[in-house]
Amino acid sequence: MSDRYAVIGNPVAHSRSPAIHAEFARATGQDIDYGRIEAPLDAFAPAVERFRLSGGKGLNVTLPFKHEAFQLCARRSERALLAQAVNTIRFDDSYGDNTDGIGLIRDFSQNVKLPLNGKSVLLLGAGGAAQGVVGALLEAGVARLVIANRTVAKAKALAARFPGASACGYDALGSEGFDIVINATSAGLAGAAPPLPDGMLNKSTLAYDMVYGRDTPFLAAARKAGARASDGLGMLVEQAAESFFLWRGVRPATQPVLAKLRGS
Ligand code: NAP
Repeated sequence: MSDRYAVIGNPVAHSRSPAIHAEFARATGQDIDYGRIEAPLDAFAPAVERFRLSGGKGLNVTLPFKHEAFQLCARRSERALLAQAVNTIRFDDSYGDNTDGIGLIRDFSQNVKLPLNGKSVLLLGAGGAAQGVVGALLEAGVARLVIANRTVAKAKALAARFPGASACGYDALGSEGFDIVINATSAGLAGAAPPLPDGMLNKSTLAYDMVYGRDTPFLAAARKAGARASDGLGMLVEQAAESFFLWRGVRPATQPVLAKLRGS
């Protein structure tokens, strides 16, 4: 029988992870079966336990459960400890890791092809996705990192864990420009966008939305303002490759899978 894995979240129907892992398995000759689990918002841990007891080998965790996943794992990688969020669980040794940060960094270097070193970055959101990338962005050498979130206290608590990051609410964002604006909110899933001041997105900005598979209002506004725009599909494929490596000890090639998903 194939080794079983899944992505767990709520909502999860939009996830492309099953298709990505099926491609990785085919390309590397690994015998895995990868599904989707929608966990009730108030019953994440029982859903994880059910999958484990039914023989599951590991899980990817998506919104809004990454912090709960962090709390569930007995052992955690250094990057998961920094993020206090887990997106990859390996059941054999109850190990939790966070591959979002490395996924974002690899997408910038290999697909977006924009060096992060020395750039000023505005990160929108303070949920599981934002928590996973702050450490990696600072490590990549960004010159300035501001975190803005609707619930300002969450942004401040996140920035307080990382020397080099600062935080504010959307209404406190002034006329200061940023080289890169990364939307790590889930607003796009509901057809909304974080409220940015006029002029924040312009011809010299790279606007990056972690949401993928739809044209979000954030990306549409960026293009209208003449900014370069990128969705989060590359990050998804890169973080998935790192999860696959953690589970299977084999590193799949990402470019062919990304090209296939983009239909090119
Ligand atoms: P989460 O933990 O539920 O956090 C959601 C975040 O979005 C919070 O900061 C929340 O603000 C903010 N938000 C929600 N609706 C908003 C709105 N209408 N206006 C402004 N802010 C809003 O979710 P997550 O795990 O961080 O995931 C966030 C998004 O990133 C999801 O869409 C997910 O699919 C995507 N993602 C993509 C990848 C990838 O590989 N491409 C990886 C990870 C995540 P409050 O704190 O004020 O509620």
